[in-house]
Amino acid sequence: MKNLQELVRLNIWSLSPYTSARDEYQGKDAKVFLDANENPYNDPVNRYPDPLQRELKTRISQIKGVPADTIFFGNGSDEAIDLMYRIFCTPGKDNAVAIEPTYGMYGVCADINDVEYRRVLMDENFQPSADKILAAIDANTKLVFFCTPNNPSGNNIDRKVIDKVLDSFDGIVIVDEAYIDFAGVPSYLKELSKRPNLIVLQTFSKAWGMAGIRLGMAFAQSGIIGIMNKVKYPYNINLLTQKRAMEEVMQYDRVKGWVESILKERARLMAEFAKLGCCIKVYPSDANFFLARVKDAAATYNYLVDQGIIVRNRSKIALCGNSLRVTIGTVVENNALLEALCAYK
Ligand code: PMP
Repeated sequence: MKNLQELVRLNIWSLSPYTSARDEYQGKDAKVFLDANENPYNDPVNRYPDPLQRELKTRISQIKGVPADTIFFGNGSDEAIDLMYRIFCTPGKDNAVAIEPTYGMYGVCADINDVEYRRVLMDENFQPSADKILAAIDANTKLVFFCTPNNPSGNNIDRKVIDKVLDSFDGIVIVDEAYIDFAGVPSYLKELSKRPNLIVLQTFSKAWGMAGIRLGMAFAQSGIIGIMNKVKYPYNINLLTQKRAMEEVMQYDRVKGWVESILKERARLMAEFAKLGCCIKVYPSDANFFLARVKDAAATYNYLVDQGIIVRNRSKIALCGNSLRVTIGTVVENNALLEALCAYK
């Protein structure tokens, strides 16, 4: 890859970051804190949180098997996606390339940052071609986005394609693994130490069951993580989020149990959904949702809304005509969906 200084925007490379009171004094043992203009009352939320979330990173580093200085936490992985543009792409000049269809925020963040977004259509089995992706890349391409398992199609992206792009492209390759815990294939985290141009995204919003606390993870070699830390808001992860995530990582077995139940239900719900009169095709899934082509997606969606059941109509998205995206719920929730659709004419 190009060296990091060539890839990072000049203004970001030379940025002097804000230094907060908690950057300057990092200990916990002082008796009196009069350095951050905090209110002395209303413990513990009166205090600013750790700007680098060190305690949580230590635990996640053990769980994921990567060094703590290769971890970045964001306000959801959406924050990390936005940071990719702000760090690497000069507005009005650089571009990003992504598989299509995929998670919508890559394109929205490109638009917000005035960065051209190049969509490379996958085949009808939702697999990309490395050659088409490489053909879409030019001298101003800074980022390539993969999402595996992919949203909204649900399938794992062919590893050979991702590897070929990682080997051939001299910019940054982002592999979004928001749904990796359901995927049954190894994470790209294992590749981090040998791939300086790789950024892996994961999140607490899916398998960890904590979409409400807004906590996403990015993993990359420490040089990239250092730049992300420079650009992020000083206290981007609030105290309550850090505390709640710490409680959850201490009982990681719960997460494993949820994933097991969801995988069991995924197999059952997909098999039953395929038998429904309204269903044309259920696409294979490696995630906690599946995509299904139905006879009339808008009518089926509206019928389900009337029954108080909400799925996602993805019909307007490329390759997803007349398709609904269904998240795997509890046994009771999944049965409610199946019963409603059995009664649907
Ligand atoms: N990546 C993908 C592929 C997603 O589907 C989502 C959320 N739907 C996200 C990232 C964002 O996750 P977070 O809640 O961590 O912002």
